[in-house]
Amino acid sequence: MIHDKLAFIRADMDSLRESNLLINIRTMGSPADAWMEVDGRRVLNFCTNNYLGLANHPRLKAAAKAAVDRWGVGPAAVRTIAGTQGLHLELERRLAAFKKVEDALYMQSGFCANQAAIPPLVGTEDVIFSDRLNHASIIDGARLSRARIIVYEHCDPADAETKIREHLSQYRRGLLITDGVFSMDGDIAPLDRLTEVAERHGVLTMVDDAHGEGVLGHGGRGIVDHFGLHGVCDVEIGTLSKAFGVVGGVIAGKKAIVDYIRQKARPFLFSSAVTPADTAACLAAVDLLEESEALVDRLWDNARYFSAEMKRLGFDTGHSQTPIVPVMLGDAGLAKQFSRELFEAGVFAVAIGFPTVPHGLARIRVMNTAAHSRDDLDQGLTAFEQVGRKLGVI
Ligand SMILES: *Cc1c(COP(=O)(O)O)cnc(C)c1O
Repeated sequence: MIHDKLAFIRADMDSLRESNLLINIRTMGSPADAWMEVDGRRVLNFCTNNYLGLANHPRLKAAAKAAVDRWGVGPAAVRTIAGTQGLHLELERRLAAFKKVEDALYMQSGFCANQAAIPPLVGTEDVIFSDRLNHASIIDGARLSRARIIVYEHCDPADAETKIREHLSQYRRGLLITDGVFSMDGDIAPLDRLTEVAERHGVLTMVDDAHGEGVLGHGGRGIVDHFGLHGVCDVEIGTLSKAFGVVGGVIAGKKAIVDYIRQKARPFLFSSAVTPADTAACLAAVDLLEESEALVDRLWDNARYFSAEMKRLGFDTGHSQTPIVPVMLGDAGLAKQFSRELFEAGVFAVAIGFPTVPHGLARIRVMNTAAHSRDDLDQGLTAFEQVGRKLGVI
C-alpha cells in the first residue's frame, strides 16, 4: 500500500480555503513607501509598518552602502565568537542613550528578541503573567522558557493582580509580559498600572514595544518614555523592522538583565550577527530621530486626520490610540472582498482574519505613516468611502 503522507496538508489547505482564511501572498516590485508596485500594479500602500517612512530613506540607504564597503556584507559568525563588530556596539550604545536605559542588545529581529529574552529570566519553576492578546513571538518565547503561563484579561491590571495573588506563591519567580501597542487594535497597554501591580508583588516586567518604537513617547522613544517609566520597567523588547525601517530587534533595560541575556540567550549564542548594512542603516535611523521630531509629528498628524475622517464616514474603527486604524468588518469573507475592491480602486490595505485576530473580528488594517501626503490620505479615504458604500458597510 502506498501511504498518502501529505493528505493532512491537502485537507487542511482545503479547509482554510473554504473558510476564506487562505493567505494570498502578494509580490512587491518596489521599495516600501507610500506608493508601491504590488503584483505589477502601482497602488497607494497602507500595509507596511514603515511608520516614519525610513524604509526607503536616502540617508539610511547611503549608510548601508558605506557600511558594506567598510565592513563587508556579513559578519560570518555569531556575536559571541567573532560576529561582534564595532558597528554593533556603536548601535547598542546609541539605542541605549536614545531610549534612556542602561544597556541595549541588538538582535536579528523582534521575534528573535522575545525568544532570546524570556527563557533566561524564567524556567520550569516560574510563572509568566501574559496579556490575552500578546503577540505570537511573546507566546512562543514564553513557551520556550517552559514556565507556567497564566493569561490575564486584555489590558486589565486588576485581573493581572488577581492572577498574581492567586498563583505567584506557588512559583519561584514571576514575570509579567505585555505588548506595548497591540498591533491589530492599536490600543496601548496601561504600562504604568501594570508595572505598579508587578512592583507591589516583586514580579519582573517586560514590554514588547514593537509598534511603539519610533511612534510613542518623546521623539519616538517608545512606551516606557510615553509613561515616564525609565528604570521601572525591567526589560523592553523593540524592533528596528517597523518604524526604524530596517530589520532587527532590541532588548533594552537594566544592565544586569541585558548582560545576563548576553551570556544566556540562545538566539544570541547560536545564530549569526546582523549584517553591517542593516546595522549601519539602523544607526542612521537613530541619527535622524535624535536630530528632529518632525517625522514622528507628521506620522501623528496623518494618523489623527485619517482616523477622524474614517469615523466621519461612518466606519467602525475600533478603539485605536495609535496610527494603526482597524476598519472593523466582522466577517472574514467580507473583509477579503473589501480588500480586493480597494485594490481594484488602487489602494493596498490587507484583510486580517483568524488566527491573527479572533473569529468574527475580521478587519482591514490601515497603517498610517509619515510617508503619506495629505493628498494620498484623501485618495485613500475616497476609495474607502466608495467601497464601503458599494458593500453596504457604511
Ligand atoms: C512585529 C512584532 C514583532 C516582530 O518583530 P520583527 O522585528 O519583525 O521580528 C514582535 N513583537 C511584536 C509585538 C510585533 O508587533
